[in-house]
Amino acid sequence: MADILIVGAGYAGMMAATGLDRISEPFTLVNNHEYHYFTTLLHEAAGGRGEPMKYTVPIRNMLRKPTSRFVQDEIVRLDRARRVAVGKAGEYPYEWLVVALGWVPEYFGIPGLAEHSLVLRNIDTAIQIRRHIESQFEAYKNDGDSTHLRIVVGGAGLTGIELVGELVDWIPELCVRYGIDRTAVEIQNIEAMPTILPQVSPELREVAARTLTEKGARLRTNTKIVKVEAGEVHVEGDDPVRAGTIIWTGGVRAHPLLSEAGFTVDRRGRAKVDAYLRSVDDDHVFVGGDTAWVEDEQGKPLPPTAQLATQMGHCIAENVSSAVHGHPLKVFRPSLKGTLASLGREVGVGNIGRFPVKGFLAGLAKEATKVKYFWELGGLRLTAEKTGEIVHLT
Ligand SMILES: Cc1cc2nc3c(=O)[nH]c(=O)nc-3n(C[C@H](O)[C@H](O)[C@H](O)COP(=O)(O)OP(=O)(O)OC[C@H]3O[C@@H](n4cnc5c(N)ncnc54)[C@H](O)[C@@H]3O)c2cc1C
Repeated sequence: MADILIVGAGYAGMMAATGLDRISEPFTLVNNHEYHYFTTLLHEAAGGRGEPMKYTVPIRNMLRKPTSRFVQDEIVRLDRARRVAVGKAGEYPYEWLVVALGWVPEYFGIPGLAEHSLVLRNIDTAIQIRRHIESQFEAYKNDGDSTHLRIVVGGAGLTGIELVGELVDWIPELCVRYGIDRTAVEIQNIEAMPTILPQVSPELREVAARTLTEKGARLRTNTKIVKVEAGEVHVEGDDPVRAGTIIWTGGVRAHPLLSEAGFTVDRRGRAKVDAYLRSVDDDHVFVGGDTAWVEDEQGKPLPPTAQLATQMGHCIAENVSSAVHGHPLKVFRPSLKGTLASLGREVGVGNIGRFPVKGFLAGLAKEATKVKYFWELGGLRLTAEKTGEIVHLT
């Protein structure tokens, strides 16, 4: 029987696993892919910057000790009464469970949105978006219908804006490849809220909006998507937008397995945890990353970010090991180090601590965050390998 079971090998799950691996604490990690992927860089994989599989690392390569076990399987149910995670290929009993299954798209009940839009959720969907856009360029060459060349990205948070940035830098390459005039291609970003990028200051939002608009994107804030049909986005108070590609980045919620298992969840499906990241419903279950409902000192829920998921993973590794050995647990203390949004391949905007950064400096800082993560995850070996492949510091 697996004493410690981790389900999900994203930022939180991998940090918990590598932390336990380092101290030779036995555990089983179950994930639906045999690789860990860099979710924060999926827009690069979707937007033609690098080969998608370079944004992954085989999970087995990250675990060194014979005490660490990895199983590739998709978990379909958490059976709390029997202390078993049920997968498609088998059952995984536990004494201590770490849930780090990440997020699923939130469609806010908008009719047709789930059926008729693409999402940037994992490597498979990044490849799907990339191929779909290429196929639309090909279709335009065949029938000349300009709808193929309109791309709508719903949502102007970090994911939506980083994706738009990536696309505006990729489109000129595609235009050359397919012999299409750049002005024939339109990228529309549609956002219901009055501003883009709520994570950064108003001045930086303006910089971001100006940069993307100058590169040819159309940003439509205060524009609510009310319905989506095949190839058509309906917005409140305006004409429908016909588009060959519709991508939704407008919201996330926690993996539904937590609410289905009866954990106390917030309106985004995240399971409530105590100061040690243990479920308030079961002290043998730790919850990390986007599936955890953690509040700051003012009682405000922490945002779902890789930065915090990574910190939670570190804390859970320590706490689950302490729980196994009957040692005192450590209080989770989140440390918000800032936000950086890339606006294409070279520039960005954001804050490092309290300091605003923009342009090439922000772009460079964003690349540096990749190096930091590779170091944290896999030390010198992974940093050397991945820095050569997907970090662009010049
Ligand atoms: C394009 C994009 C850009 C982003 N940029 C940033 C950024 O710049 N900074 C930042 O801090 N955050 C950013 N985020 C948010 C960040 O990626 C998430 O907050 C982070 O990935 C959450 O980590 P996690 O460990 O909770 O979940 P994930 O990283 O989503 O990992 C969940 C894991 O669980 C696995 N899994 C899911 N379901 C099952 C199942 N049923 N069975 C088995 N395994 C399963 C998945 O394959 C995955 O490996 C970005 C997100 C996107 C999409």
